[in-house]
Amino acid sequence: MKNYKIAVLAGDGIGPEITREAIKVLKLIEERNDVSFELMPAAFGACAYFEFGDAFPQSTIDICDQADAILKGPIGLSHEQSKTIPIDKQPERGALLPMRRRYNTYANFRPVFLPKALAHFSPLKPEIIGEGIDIIMVRELVGGLYFGSKETGINEQGLRYVKETLEYDEHQISQILHQAFKLAQKRKKVLHNIHKSNVLKSSVLWNEILDEVAKEYPEVEVIHQLVDSAATNLCLKPTQFDVMVMENMFGDILSDQGGGILGSLGLMPSACIGDEKAYYEPSHGSAPDIAGKNIANPYSMIGSVAMMLENSFDMAAEAKNVWDAMQGVFGDGYSTADLSKPGSGVTMISTEQFGDKVVEKLRQMPRVSAA
Ligand code: NAD
Repeated sequence: MKNYKIAVLAGDGIGPEITREAIKVLKLIEERNDVSFELMPAAFGACAYFEFGDAFPQSTIDICDQADAILKGPIGLSHEQSKTIPIDKQPERGALLPMRRRYNTYANFRPVFLPKALAHFSPLKPEIIGEGIDIIMVRELVGGLYFGSKETGINEQGLRYVKETLEYDEHQISQILHQAFKLAQKRKKVLHNIHKSNVLKSSVLWNEILDEVAKEYPEVEVIHQLVDSAATNLCLKPTQFDVMVMENMFGDILSDQGGGILGSLGLMPSACIGDEKAYYEPSHGSAPDIAGKNIANPYSMIGSVAMMLENSFDMAAEAKNVWDAMQGVFGDGYSTADLSKPGSGVTMISTEQFGDKVVEKLRQMPRVSAA
């Protein structure tokens, strides 16, 4: 029997609600396989700040250090509530970025997936969705503007100013590009490189390195697209994309747009992979507007579990079952509140009911042995 330790950081807002459903799925996976998961809950985000005065306290660091993988819920407060926490202690600056830095989780994989059968969830017309949307965005996660040096002060004219720097070195760029090329190789052998080299020198270097790395993957066709144009194309012709690679901030923004074209950020799980450690989190935030109402869509969190099973525990077959189970629940005519309006021909279900139905579906699937 394999034993894995999982740090469980439920986070803020809807985090605990969707984490609860993800844990139901993990428990069932345990029942069905020769595997045991030791779940190690820990405080992370605003909740940790209020309890320990630190959004990523030492006790949580210790748990994450020991874990084989980390399952992280969304963190953060509403815009107004955020002001109750000092700027540098706020969840992203105080917990999320330090975690990414600590474990050097430089490769963020964000699937943007909607099969044709679920086209009714999307705000796009069925003819735009065609046979379905199936994109993986590969986002560099530990460099660029978010991690560069920062300075604020008063300038010579007596005006408040801010300076933030966008920094990358060639190693950071080549390591994420290798990840993207390897993924493209396994899929359709087409890689969209998203950049802004007409304005940013960082993109000029990025593209230079890309040309070098591309030589190692001659079978992969590279298509260059400016990030602004890519934003339009995601709406007008999303099916042209398969694997997209981009720097940190472009990936943050375009992947939220990815959620938009599917119909909700609730359909956006992700995997954040480093050489030594990986963590898994929904791409979205803590959704304070719907927290505590049992209406959040847990797909993003359960999908993050599926990505963990595949990437950290070598359980690709069970991961596929989890995806199929979730698609199956929607396929049976159910919908969470984010994806449909009442009266649109679907049966609305709560966060908890979605989790229960996924577990029910999984129970009906033939067992696979853990790798
Ligand atoms: P958000 O992603 O939390 O919410 C945007 C919209 O999407 C809201 O209408 C919300 O209700 C909806 N939504 C998001 N996830 C959903 C789900 N699973 N089911 C149904 N609807 C869902 O973005 P925001 O409101 O701009 O940010 C809220 C907080 O989250 C902020 O404090 C922000 O800093 C933080 N945040 C954290 C992360 C992270 O933990 N990685 C990422 C993004 C934002």
